[in-house]
Amino acid sequence: MFCPRRNENPQSYQMYPEEDYWRDENDTCSYCGSYNPNLLMQAIHNDTVEIGPTDKNYKIYLKFTTSHERKFYFQHFSMKQQQEFVDLMNTKKIKIGHPGHFYVLPYFAFKEGG
Ligand SMILES: [Zn+2]
Repeated sequence: MFCPRRNENPQSYQMYPEEDYWRDENDTCSYCGSYNPNLLMQAIHNDTVEIGPTDKNYKIYLKFTTSHERKFYFQHFSMKQQQEFVDLMNTKKIKIGHPGHFYVLPYFAFKEGG
């Protein structure tokens, strides 16, 4: 696995081992700490996660029904997952925690007509 967030810091290529991986114990990226995107999509479909908005267009908090919490960086989504997330958002199938909407939309989403 290769963490897409490495591109934000060119030095990361020297500072970290060549391969990033998903940590077995909490399903997070060994480089940036983001939760696994495939598991996130699964949790959204199973309705076992609430999304906590942040003031960053690339970051959200995840609160699972099992009460554990993670963060997620949108950079880890594939193009297909980005589209799927937007579709789910538009059809209100994503549970969003207080205040019930995003402060800023994910960087790959935009409001229709504006
Ligand atoms: Zn990462």
